[in-house]
Amino acid sequence: MCPLAQLMITFLRWWTMAKTVVELYRDVLPKTNCGECGVPTCLAFASKVVLEKQALDACPYLAPETIAELQPELDAQHETGKHLKRDLAADALEWAKQKAASMKLEDLAERIGGELRQGTEGAFLELPYFADAIHIGNDALLHPDGTALGRWEQVFIYNHMAQGGSAEPIGEWKGLELIPNTTPKLKSMQEHVENPLLESFRGKPEALLARAKLFGGEKVSNESFSSDLAIKFRPLPKIPILLLFWDEDPEEGFEARVKLLFDETISEHLDIESIMFLSERLRQLLRGDEAK
Ligand code: SF4
Repeated sequence: MCPLAQLMITFLRWWTMAKTVVELYRDVLPKTNCGECGVPTCLAFASKVVLEKQALDACPYLAPETIAELQPELDAQHETGKHLKRDLAADALEWAKQKAASMKLEDLAERIGGELRQGTEGAFLELPYFADAIHIGNDALLHPDGTALGRWEQVFIYNHMAQGGSAEPIGEWKGLELIPNTTPKLKSMQEHVENPLLESFRGKPEALLARAKLFGGEKVSNESFSSDLAIKFRPLPKIPILLLFWDEDPEEGFEARVKLLFDETISEHLDIESIMFLSERLRQLLRGDEAK
């Protein structure tokens, strides 16, 4: 047998030997669900051991020989990352950082906007973000007070840094359905952005406008849309969003409605996931929802 085939067989043997949650529960644990390990059931304990590196000896009912035999196998399994619970935000952040790693701050200012500034730690790009700003340094994304952005927000900004073109908005407004390749997200836009905004502001257009002003929203002409209210936001220098609001009119049988419109150039600056992130961020700010 050639060495490569031998290596593959050894690898496959090892791979199939790795313990899953179910195997550990089924073949090793007492299944009495006594809770002495700190979780209510043996299955929950198996999950903590395999996915979160909980030590086996937290179960006082396992024989020392069983622990001595299994723990090194589990440690080796954890070293490889097999079956470990993935930290999606960390993975996405690493990937987005790599995409943006080669960017120069001077080029970024040209492409996505913002102003180059000099701080105590060196140059940074001050990028307007809603009514606030983000400081983009060589290896960190910070709020002006020096605290780090949330991880998903960092993923969003790194993606924008990597993808953002230099196109300026042209004032041609489009619903998400008219932007290429966005069909799978239409339901999500309705359920996670437009409907929650309706729930909060139905019958309260003044309250919506007051909240919008806190985050840089500005009332603009609604003539072309025949909506009750049109509010323009500039969350990022090259990315405007228009929020249209029609209030309910029970006598006429009109339901309230909210719709977000994007400049036609948005797909030069953001991919669909980032458009959704930005829309949900707007919803969070307007409703005062906590960012996840
Ligand atoms: S201490 Fe052991 S037997 Fe008790 S629930 Fe935890 S894993 Fe099961």
